[in-house]
Amino acid sequence: MKICIFWHRRDLRLHDNAGLAAALASGLPVLPLFIYDSDILDYLPNKADARLTYIFDEVERLSAATAAAGGTFLARYGKPLEVLEALLKEFDVAAVHTNEDYEPYATQRDAALGQLLAGHGVDFFLYKDQVIFAKDEILTKSGTVPKVFGAYHKSFLAKLTDDLLLPYGSAEAFTAANLHRVPDGQAAARPTLESMGFERLEQFVPTADLPAQEVVRNYHATRNTPALQNGTTRISVQLRFGTLNVRQVMRQAKALNPKLLAEIIWRDFFMMLLWHYPGTATEAYDPKMRAVPYRNNEDEFQAWCEGRTGYPLVDAGMRELNATGYLPNRVRMTVAGFLVKHLFIDWRWGEKYFADKLLDYELANNVGNWQWMAGTGAISAPWFRVYSPESQLAQVDPDMKYVKRWVPEVGTRAYPTPIVDHKFARDRAVEAIRAARIAATS
Ligand SMILES: Cc1cc2nc3c(=O)[nH]c(=O)nc-3n(C[C@H](O)[C@H](O)[C@H](O)COP(=O)(O)OP(=O)(O)OC[C@H]3O[C@@H](n4cnc5c(N)ncnc54)[C@H](O)[C@@H]3O)c2cc1C
Repeated sequence: MKICIFWHRRDLRLHDNAGLAAALASGLPVLPLFIYDSDILDYLPNKADARLTYIFDEVERLSAATAAAGGTFLARYGKPLEVLEALLKEFDVAAVHTNEDYEPYATQRDAALGQLLAGHGVDFFLYKDQVIFAKDEILTKSGTVPKVFGAYHKSFLAKLTDDLLLPYGSAEAFTAANLHRVPDGQAAARPTLESMGFERLEQFVPTADLPAQEVVRNYHATRNTPALQNGTTRISVQLRFGTLNVRQVMRQAKALNPKLLAEIIWRDFFMMLLWHYPGTATEAYDPKMRAVPYRNNEDEFQAWCEGRTGYPLVDAGMRELNATGYLPNRVRMTVAGFLVKHLFIDWRWGEKYFADKLLDYELANNVGNWQWMAGTGAISAPWFRVYSPESQLAQVDPDMKYVKRWVPEVGTRAYPTPIVDHKFARDRAVEAIRAARIAATS
């Protein structure tokens, strides 16, 4: 029997799923699939990784929902192209459907898959699902992607109609009539965390619910107070793995809070910047910032990682990150600014550390924000801007409620003295960057 495959990647949900809805409406029974990509998993530094536990539990949930609906969900471990090629032998596959992924690795993988499938006479369909506007949908009059958030945001809002946020009816069409069922005992067993060499680590299990209305309504007033547990929406993990869809989140934000809507538009913007400039995943966008003589002192980097810099807001942030895998945006900015300017360490060291630790790690958002803080990106804070961690603390945590939660010894002799003087460090970074920029243009 001819079937089609729907390959879940960053969209671990049945509801409001553009590609899944299209596959279910294609007239061919759908075989849903998830691949644990060995090219990624084999290089994860930590075999107890809360993100993998999260993915695994979501895949098992999808599997149970598929069985309950009368179909079979396949989960495989391996290199995606090899897994898919093997499935072409196992099943009579007429088409593969999946949602677009804009990261450099994913776009290359999908291009190669397109060729492989074409060679077998199998159709390959990709759908826009994880952003509202993709690729060249928002460009300046001269045909380039805007390099200023204000311009992107303005064009985005001008084009944003309610139709674009309507949900896709994938959950409604997810019925036995539209699903392929492999006879009992004939589908290979799904991998387990243990069979893939991973331990279960439940550090933080977010629900896939929309944030409470009250949180969204107050967002603009509470977002910069890290002591508040619900000052922001805490939906980044769900958006990363697609257990929540950006359309449902935007519908809520559009109705209740324009500031939150703007922050979610940043996510779209960074994804498209990375798609347009894939090289920025590892290199400064601004050529004048590529030869900055960072100090890259290993001991100081270690002190930053462990929250021992003697700057309370920086240390509290790093300790929260290490303990929970989460950090509020305002504190991410403080710790990142401190690393790249005060310690004058390459932004890529910090980006990598965040990538290992953040449960919501998202290449586009992480690189985009790190390059922003370092002043190296396609859009950036000015390279000479150096935020004082003390003034930041006075602004966002004046009574030190947040700091004391993570750095109980602050104010005692057990707490270290500052690793570097703010003014000295600021002048050192600004002068070195200025000289590097002049050298790059002469
Ligand atoms: C140095 C640095 C690194 C970062 N790395 C990541 C990362 O790896 N993954 C990630 O998802 N976010 C990253 N961010 C952006 C932001 O800090 C997080 O999205 C946010 O803190 C997540 O918490 P929340 O869901 O409560 O956010 P909220 O403030 O409630 O915002 C709602 C959603 O809007 C989006 N958003 C908000 N702020 C930003 C922003 N500055 N850039 C892009 N999208 C935004 C996110 O999807 C977020 O979940 C980084 C920021 C900085 C300064």
